[in-house]
Amino acid sequence: MGRVSLDTLLRRSEKNMGSGMNAIVKKSALELIRRAYKEGINAQISHGMRTYAQQNALYAQGRTKPGSKVTNARGGYSNHNFGLAVDYFLTSEDGSKAIWTVNSDWKRVAAIAKSLGFSWGGDWTSFKDYPHLEMTGGLSTAQLRAGKRPSLTDRTGTKKVAPSKTVSKPPSSSSGSSWVKAAQEWGNSRDYPDKAGFNELDEDGLTGPLTFDAFLRIYQYFGKTAIDGVWGPKSRAVAAVQNKDDHTPGWTRLLQATLCLYGYKHKIDGAFGPLTDEALRAFQRSKGIKADGTTGPVTYTKMFEAA
Ligand SMILES: [Zn+2]
Repeated sequence: MGRVSLDTLLRRSEKNMGSGMNAIVKKSALELIRRAYKEGINAQISHGMRTYAQQNALYAQGRTKPGSKVTNARGGYSNHNFGLAVDYFLTSEDGSKAIWTVNSDWKRVAAIAKSLGFSWGGDWTSFKDYPHLEMTGGLSTAQLRAGKRPSLTDRTGTKKVAPSKTVSKPPSSSSGSSWVKAAQEWGNSRDYPDKAGFNELDEDGLTGPLTFDAFLRIYQYFGKTAIDGVWGPKSRAVAAVQNKDDHTPGWTRLLQATLCLYGYKHKIDGAFGPLTDEALRAFQRSKGIKADGTTGPVTYTKMFEAA
């Protein structure tokens, strides 16, 4: 059994954080997972954003509901309610099991987190919360409840690329993440977030569920079907047939951008040339479907169904 991939840990972490996270906290948490991984430590984020209602349900545990107490904070009294906190844990080598032992690896993750600007719950004196990390910018939950929001410092050392309207030449990179970033920039262009109903994507070069959700919504917008971010028969029915000989720029850009999410380094220029054909066939081969260089229901299902 091999080591769980970094991508898997990042994907799960992004998903577990949920929507509504402060952008810098989210980015820093993902950077934390990446740095720990480089040191041979498999860490993952278990929680991020929690609504007041979710917090109240958690507070009830061990009080009015069965279980043991897990929090002293009611809704609005936890930094999780403002997208400023995350919880982490370690995983087994293959990523299949969670490890909650506060060992040297656990403490090393906390140290990396602190270098990124997080405060660690393991340093608290009254009630130690070892999985907990937060960035409050010095604000109290009372101030946060009153609507104040912190201005946080990004210590990840990764620069945010200025948004651009059209993207044709992403900067070269051996990691491939600049291609994902270019795909995310494309997703944010042309008012797609408004038209297809998703929150503007973080242009962080990380392939995650939010990016796939956005692209599926753009697909549904193009297909003029119900936009719900769920792959199903209605989405299948509007799959555009696109190939080298017969294509439109919009669908071609969506195809090129989605191929970037799958690791193919591809310009998003709307021109369905030999390179697009080749990347599409490679994708089809990798999914065990007919490698005919033509998109349709089968190809799009492989692209969006499990994403
Ligand atoms: Zn927490």
